Formats: sequence, structure tokens, C-alpha cells
Amino acid sequence: MSRISYCIANWKMNHTSDSIKQFINDLESIDSFKSDVKTIICPSYVHLYLVQNFLFESNIEIGSQNVSEFDLGAFTGEVSANMLKDIGVRYVILGHSERRHLFSETNKQINCKLNAVIKNDLEPILCIGETLEQRKDGDTEKVLREQLNSMFNKIVDLSKVSIVAYEPVWAIGTGIAADLETINSTHKLIRKILNNCGLQSDAISLLYGGSVIPENCSEIFKLEHVDGFLIGGASLKPETFTKIYIKMKIIRNNYS
Ligand code: PEP
Repeated sequence: MSRISYCIANWKMNHTSDSIKQFINDLESIDSFKSDVKTIICPSYVHLYLVQNFLFESNIEIGSQNVSEFDLGAFTGEVSANMLKDIGVRYVILGHSERRHLFSETNKQINCKLNAVIKNDLEPILCIGETLEQRKDGDTEKVLREQLNSMFNKIVDLSKVSIVAYEPVWAIGTGIAADLETINSTHKLIRKILNNCGLQSDAISLLYGGSVIPENCSEIFKLEHVDGFLIGGASLKPETFTKIYIKMKIIRNNYS
């Protein structure tokens, strides 16, 4: 089965309106982003609308890096799924390791956020991944299983889950990507866990995230179980982001 390929930029807490304008101007050619590789940019909340306007009528879509687990009301500083939908956001990153580890986000909260996203017809980009200690202790499978099982707890319509990103915590922002064997075997394992959770894993795009750069993206993207990338650092510069996208596009064209 040919799954959708994704090239997703997670800008985290970076960029200003000026640097975003520059980024969009410097993208090789917005038109070249029309291909079988879907491109999504996830800026900060405050820049969603701006990026949306800059990319209007392009093939690049926008996503949010987070969302509130609550629907509406007295939740100072929060942004609801309905608000994101209201401004035309389609994708939402959920469970990023920086949210889990720096902001103590729990599996239960991520489960509530997933519920909110699905209720509002948005598309979740579900992040999972183990720490180095957990991998060394042989707990990778247990951790990934727990993360997925608790995310999916009591979710009524799991058919809306179509993108899962495997991001080993030890590879995020460290400059040391996981090796090819680890990536492919862990992605294969995640497909098995997804099937056990009652999902059709063959139809789910499994992305890798963790120090992806133009120099390592081709080898990783050619792996059987890898359908794309969630990219942090290398997505901040238009040259490196475009290089990764173009390499993916060429590989995808050769393989389809
Ligand atoms: C991320 O934050 O999702 C990520 C993969 O970051 P980086 O590419 O910088 O490792």
C-alpha cells in the first residue's frame, strides 16, 4: 500500500514575522511543493495566521505545535482545537517529547487533547518516543506501547489517526540521529503495536524525527517503514528544509 509521505517542519519557539517573511521568500519555489510529498509547517501559535496568509493558495499546509485539552472557558493562556480550526489550521502535533519532558504533559492529557482534535475534525500528528535510559534498559517496546495505548483510551473514532511520528528523545536536537536499523525496526514494532490497538497500521504514515538533516534524510526515507519526517532544527532554514523536501520528492517519484 502506498502511504502518504510527509515533510513536516516543527519550528518550536523560533522565528519572528520578519524572519518568516524571509523564510517564505527564500523557499526555492513554492510551486515545487506540489508533489506526492505533503509539506506542513508548524509555527508558534502567534504566527499561525501569518504563515497561513503567506502560504495561501500554496500546497504547503499549516499545523499547530500544541492544543488545549479543554473545549472552552476559563483556561488562561490556552488555545482550543475549535480556535485552531476557526483560523484554518488542519494539523496538530500532540505529545511532542518537549511537551512531555519540559512541561510535564502526561499520557492522560495527551489523550484528552487527541479527543479534542478528533472532535473538531483536525488531523493529529502523534509523537511517541523513548528516552536513552529506557532504550538501554530494554523498555522501548513497553514505553511505546504505553504511550499509544493511553493516547487511544476511549477515543471513539480512531480512523482519524493517520500520522504517527517516532521521535527517540535522545535523537531530538542532539545532532545524533538514530541508526537506520534502529529506525526501521522500531517503526516495524510501532506498526505491530498500532495493529494491536485496533488501527490499520498499513494505512498510517509513520514519520521519523530526530536530527534529520539533508545529509542523512535520503537513507532514512528509503527505509521500508519510514513515510516521512518531523523536522526541528533543519526546518528553520529554507535551504535545508527545501533540500530535504526535494530529496524526498525524488525518492518518492522513483519508488512510485
Ligand atoms: C523535533 O523537535 O521534533 C525534532 C525532530 O527536532 P530536531 O530535528 O531538531 O532533532
